[in-house]
Order: sequence, then structure tokens, then C-alpha cells
Amino acid sequence: MSEKTVFSRIIEGEVPADIVYQDEHVVAIRDINPAAPVHILVIPRKPVPSLVHLEEGDVELAGRLLLAVRAIAEQEGIAEDGFRLTVNTGEQGGQTVPHLHLHILAGKRFTEGSMR
Ligand code: 5GP
Repeated sequence: MSEKTVFSRIIEGEVPADIVYQDEHVVAIRDINPAAPVHILVIPRKPVPSLVHLEEGDVELAGRLLLAVRAIAEQEGIAEDGFRLTVNTGEQGGQTVPHLHLHILAGKRFTEGSMR
């Protein structure tokens, strides 16, 4: 069994975090080092290491993650103006915490067409 990630520890209440949303499948927290005025991490309770580790049996979870993004966007008042959703995956993708998470970034205008 691999070591628990900081996100599992947050989900289990061992490490404090600013939780903005939670349901049966998902917990969302404010990023400790925000890259935009609004920076929220949407994390499945199940410790899937990364996007490429999702399996057929996770089809509901995958949908739940995206529906949570919608609910959070509405709650945070960013659904209309828009936001960027990023899933860093693996070493080359810049993933630093090996527990799947979606970054919601908002409150600034991202350069059109730019992925940076
Ligand atoms: P990654 O680089 O894996 O896509 O993103 C990991 C994110 O988790 C980073 O943006 C980082 O700031 C955030 N992060 C790492 N440790 C903690 C923590 O203990 N609490 C919170 N709220 N965010 C964290």
C-alpha cells in the first residue's frame, strides 16, 4: 500500500484545509498556493493516483467530478464569466500530488488560445 497523499489526509480530516464543497464522491478545497484569484482543487474521495488510472468502474466518479465543477462554479459565481479547468497528469504534466485532482482557475482572463 503506497503512502497516503496530503489530499487523502485532508479528506480524512488529518490536515486542515479550506473546504468549499463536498459530497459523497468529491471534496473541493482552496489551493494553498493560488495561481489565480479563485483556485480550487476538486478531489475524488477515492485515491485514484491520476487521470490515467481511471478505470471502467470509475465512470460514475468521472461524471461526478465534472458535475461538482459545475456546482462549485455556480457557488463561487464564476459560471457565467468562465474559468479554466486543468488536470495535470504525471511527471511531464507537472503533477506533484499523486491523487487525481482538477484545478478550477478563475477571476482573471486567461490568454485566448494559450494553454499557459
Ligand atoms: P499538481 O501540481 O499536483 O497539479 O497540483 C497540486 C496542487 O496542490 C498545487 O497547486 C499545490 O499548491 C496544492 N497543494 C499542495 N499541498 C496542499 C495542501 O496541503 N493544501 C492545499 N490546500 N493545497 C495544497
